[in-house]
Amino acid sequence: SRKPFIGGNWKLNGSKKFIAEMSKVFNEAELDSEKVDVCIAPPFVYLETLRNALRKDWIVSAQNCTEKPKGAFTGEISCGMLQDIGIDWVILGHSERRHIYKESHELIGEKTKKALENGLSVIFCIGETREEREKNLTNQVLIEQLAPIKDIPDWTNIVIAYEPVWAIGTGLVATPAQAEEAHLFLRQWFSENISTDVSEKLRIIYGGSVKPQNSTELIKKPNVDGFLVGGASLQPGFVEIVKNVI
Ligand code: 13P
Repeated sequence: SRKPFIGGNWKLNGSKKFIAEMSKVFNEAELDSEKVDVCIAPPFVYLETLRNALRKDWIVSAQNCTEKPKGAFTGEISCGMLQDIGIDWVILGHSERRHIYKESHELIGEKTKKALENGLSVIFCIGETREEREKNLTNQVLIEQLAPIKDIPDWTNIVIAYEPVWAIGTGLVATPAQAEEAHLFLRQWFSENISTDVSEKLRIIYGGSVKPQNSTELIKKPNVDGFLVGGASLQPGFVEIVKNVI
């Protein structure tokens, strides 16, 4: 059985004051951290502040990085720099990177391979838009997004986040049946294209309008191994989501 994984993606939110307040809430939460992996991803400039303030049994993750090791790439942050400040997780391929910042499947694949080669762990996000779902292209889109990482040699340090774009920040959560259908499709894809062992061990988490109230039903689905939470990770109720999966 797979250990649940809960991520809080803060996106472009937070401040030093907010970090102090939220760390207090999170640090006081009583939960068995052997039973769940919890991760918070703040903006780059707050990684160290949050790492210093947050309980050590929770992971702190970056929201992005570059595939380049160093050089003339203004505005970028390398894998080595993240590790230099003690950060060993990164979210890659978030739909906001794909759609707003036009990162291609290939670029995200390249970033993911470089991050893994550098010893980082990756939360790899995929998901279809509303238009693609309506055209019955969901499975095809998921396959296209996975294709560039198909040849990675070791899947130990990767978590897949299925985040349907129509459910992100909309309050329109996927039903437990819709989430399970996509997660099952993904697990079968891994079984057929990578290995049954990887398919059984890989954690596939759901993201898109997850709240304490809807998390209980979603986590009951056999192929939903946790969540990537946006808006609700900026609230004290995030702790309830964590407790609900244990
Ligand atoms: P919301 O939970 O705000 O819908 O965001 C989900 C998400 O994009 C997490 O990465």
